[in-house]
Amino acid sequence: MVHSDIKVVALTFDDSPDPAFTEAILDILKQKQVKATFFVIGAKASQNPLILRRMVTEGHEIGNHGYTHNYGIREMTGELRQTDQSVYSVTDTHTHTHFYRPPGGFVTKSQINRLRNKVM
Ligand SMILES: [Zn+2]
Repeated sequence: MVHSDIKVVALTFDDSPDPAFTEAILDILKQKQVKATFFVIGAKASQNPLILRRMVTEGHEIGNHGYTHNYGIREMTGELRQTDQSVYSVTDTHTHTHFYRPPGGFVTKSQINRLRNKVM
């Protein structure tokens, strides 16, 4: 959340890092000198470490989008922890994820409450 009197836009991209799309997005963002937040899938982060490192090196923020992009999962904590560990181990700066975007936007109040009570 940003408190501001001027209008601002936050660019976010889900399901990264994807070898088919993400580098093209990074090229455009670099050309336009714009930063974004990439909500990464942990399994893809492990499979595409160079793209993930490029995101961080070029100043973009990394968010957590689960490890398997599973919509129906009841216990998300393990997925979030796995993704955070993937991002941490792949990035030279040992980056952690501080924001979560649930796959498909599906999240229940009880899941949110459980996550609030967990320490990652
Ligand atoms: Zn997604």
